[in-house]
Amino acid sequence: MTQQSPKQARPAVPSTTPATWLGVMGGGQLGRMFAHAAQSMGFKVAVLEADTDCPAGQVADRLLAAPYDDAKALAELGALCAAVTTEFENVSAHSLAVLAGQTFVAPAASGVSIAQDRTAEKAFFTECGTRSGVLPAPHRVIQSDADIDGIGDDLLPGILKTARMGYDGKGQVRVRTNEEVRAAFAGMQGVTCVLEKMLPLAYEVSVLVARGDDGQAVVYPIAENVHRDGILFTTTVPGPNIKPEAAERAQQAALQIIGAMQYVGVLCIEFFVLQDGSLVVNEMAPRPHNSGHYTIDACATSQFEQQARAMARLPLGDTRQHSAAVMLNILGDVWYEGGNDSETLREPAWEKVLALPGAHLHLYGKAEARRGRKMGHVTFTGATIDDAQKQLAAACAILGIAA
Ligand code: ATP
Ligand code: MG
Repeated sequence: MTQQSPKQARPAVPSTTPATWLGVMGGGQLGRMFAHAAQSMGFKVAVLEADTDCPAGQVADRLLAAPYDDAKALAELGALCAAVTTEFENVSAHSLAVLAGQTFVAPAASGVSIAQDRTAEKAFFTECGTRSGVLPAPHRVIQSDADIDGIGDDLLPGILKTARMGYDGKGQVRVRTNEEVRAAFAGMQGVTCVLEKMLPLAYEVSVLVARGDDGQAVVYPIAENVHRDGILFTTTVPGPNIKPEAAERAQQAALQIIGAMQYVGVLCIEFFVLQDGSLVVNEMAPRPHNSGHYTIDACATSQFEQQARAMARLPLGDTRQHSAAVMLNILGDVWYEGGNDSETLREPAWEKVLALPGAHLHLYGKAEARRGRKMGHVTFTGATIDDAQKQLAAACAILGIAA
């Protein structure tokens, strides 16, 4: 599915082809998988990251080992690369703006700043929702105790979320009464928060979209996500629960959002599907996303190749899914033998997991397995979702993960 919108004026920059350099702010697994995809197309990849043994640094053609706001390193990255992107959303919008003075930055600081701040994000979604009909949860911005006055059933029970720096369910408190909102807000050290009404979720989906500098946009199939302890556990694509009409609405809303931001690159938008079947837009990540990892093994163009194409101003790739897919995140927990008290570490039985039909193992090169740390993922591809889910269940049994 594609959509056209008018081309945005950009500063003149040399056109980008393979054999030139692409830069990434951040050295995590998203940067590593981006580097793999970009390098296989012939690009060279530079990574800016202070940790010299980071997942992306291990595979980059060049690692600039410095903090993300280091002026000298930013200047070096900008001078070397024909385009720069970010692989994590809390990179300072200021650094992206500095880079934009030197090279092509995708996504631009403007889009990243909206995604970094729940208040800006919710306001933007509300504006887009007047046209698409897909709105965020009822909410209120809380900046002082006075903002809590009068909150009742309209927003309670609810979830108080910090406006900035939340991820994997961190920076969130569930609240039932006005007093609990006050206590939770007092515990947030005075940072701006958003109180959101707790909604009756049936399940959660995400939509990956990408847009080129020429305004062309593409959308991937609907992914259904299951979280555990606030961390993504599995992604199943195509989402087994969503009705075609709701899937189409979510995809159209995602295309509308990416177009309205004049965003260039890959963007992931999370939605809630409520028990009555209605759709609510939750949040977005201005980069490839964990719920899009399945695209590496199950789609004509992976989310990482798509990011490289968008940065290089090459045509965007086909988003067609060629296999049903279930992705399982591999956390550090599976290195621990026995129960939760055990401190004995051993390598999981990958040979058994890889013996399962359609198993694709991706490990991120992290030296230390810690509980709750994303170490890798396995995608199971199959002719049907049922086939892939059977292999998922077998893998969970092998790895000691409760299915
Ligand atoms: P991440 O960035 O890892 O996706 P996050 O910390 O930024 O997570 P959210 O996605 O907003 O935060 O919330 C985490 C989870 O909490 C959601 O996936 C959902 O399961 C639940 N949740 C959040 N908001 C609501 C809501 N309004 N009603 C019901 N459940 C919610
Ligand atoms: Mg989320």
